[in-house]
Amino acid sequence: MREKEVWTITVGVNLETSRSAAQLAEQNADVFACIGLHPVDDAHTGIVSSFDEKDFASLVTNPKVVAIGECGLDYGRAGTATDAEKARQKKDFEKQIDFAVANNKLLMLHIRNAHNDALDILASKKREYGERLRGNSHFFAGTTEIEKKYLDLNFSVSFTGVITFTSDYDEAVKYAPLDMIMSETDAPFVSPIPHRGKRNEPIYVEYVAQKMAQIKGKSTEEMQKILVDNAIRVFNIPL
Ligand SMILES: [Zn+2]
Repeated sequence: MREKEVWTITVGVNLETSRSAAQLAEQNADVFACIGLHPVDDAHTGIVSSFDEKDFASLVTNPKVVAIGECGLDYGRAGTATDAEKARQKKDFEKQIDFAVANNKLLMLHIRNAHNDALDILASKKREYGERLRGNSHFFAGTTEIEKKYLDLNFSVSFTGVITFTSDYDEAVKYAPLDMIMSETDAPFVSPIPHRGKRNEPIYVEYVAQKMAQIKGKSTEEMQKILVDNAIRVFNIPL
């Protein structure tokens, strides 16, 4: 990453990995961290925790921690989460929204097959918190209609290497205003072309930027500058 001058925001999915993310950020000037409880990744550990702000209180004061998340709702690949599971996720999501606002941080949203419920929660929290509620819709993979709703809430939208191997989100990329679009890799998952099927790496973000530039009709250099400026501004990256 350093050779390629790529910076990253690394993501915790539970308390343990949030601690590691914050530690990695502390040790490396070009790494920033996101802390929180992922709606489903934590469950993969076999222990399903619930979000308790006391656990994260000492981490959130770390100046290298720039956002709360990934948090949100994930109703599964087929959108078939049970009502009890949906209720569990909603509770943790709401707690993390409150925690982010109380600590003046952004939210890093992970929403899969749950946009309507997520947008309902965000809209009601927006009425309570106004401009203090801010965030980024990570791994955006929805329609422009859904995208508009996040943008209306003043959430930026972020795209991964998926855009290099399907044109399904070209419209969404086109629709995103130049000051509200983000790039990411979701490494180690979904490697972009030309690295499909292999482990994804943060440095492959260049392929995402390249593809975005193509879709947006910009040069890669212009697009890269826009994306870096957006990340610094939206995440309030301490330089
Ligand atoms: Zn995610």
